[in-house]
Amino acid sequence: MSLDIETILCRAGYMNNYSYLLTDRETGISAIVDPSEAEPVIARCNELGHKPSYILNTHHHFDHTEANLEIKNYYQANVIGAEYDKNRIPGIDETVSDGQFWMLGKSKAEIIRVDGHTIGHILWYFPNDKALFTGDTLFNLCIGGLFEGSAEEMFSSLNKIKNLPGDTLFYPGHEYTLQSLPFALHLNLNNPILQNYITEAQKRLRRGLPAGPIALNTEKQCNPYLMAQTLTEFKQLLNRE
Ligand SMILES: [Zn+2]
Repeated sequence: MSLDIETILCRAGYMNNYSYLLTDRETGISAIVDPSEAEPVIARCNELGHKPSYILNTHHHFDHTEANLEIKNYYQANVIGAEYDKNRIPGIDETVSDGQFWMLGKSKAEIIRVDGHTIGHILWYFPNDKALFTGDTLFNLCIGGLFEGSAEEMFSSLNKIKNLPGDTLFYPGHEYTLQSLPFALHLNLNNPILQNYITEAQKRLRRGLPAGPIALNTEKQCNPYLMAQTLTEFKQLLNRE
């Protein structure tokens, strides 16, 4: 493990976005994932004495990119986003594409394209650190809405996530656990793994911590959208929301 990960809550109390401060331990080089609000991000970075060199975006939505320019100017940071989003991510300097590797100091990220929530949405996957930044594609116990992509595209994107190593921890773009509980429970009332998931998540949330990160293996056994085995099942779930 060469990456330190710090969760920063943004738009607290209304959109509850998560930005993340990633620091490569060996070089001290750091990056911010999806800076949705400048003030809490800058406050936390300054508190920890980090000057992020990069901004890593998962997709173009304003609640993930709105602080790009302010953070970029404040730290002279470079903005990295999907090639597909090159005309709609503020301040973008460098683009990445599906399957490409990108280095944060000595920490290697792999770019995984996941159409569905938007077209061109990407995941930042750090295989050696078993860390996956899922933006608005995968949340605790739910998934992002289909703003641009189809159910088919989202299902195939979720399969890419399901095929990653099960001990990978995922870091979502919003804290939606409590809102997603009733639907997940309704479908899986007697699932002991889900019961334990909920107990632990509630404990952490009460302490002011994020519900996660959760291992993909656990998520696959609790998140109804990951539990859907076929496209037909997946579409049925979308219709029941
Ligand atoms: Zn979004």
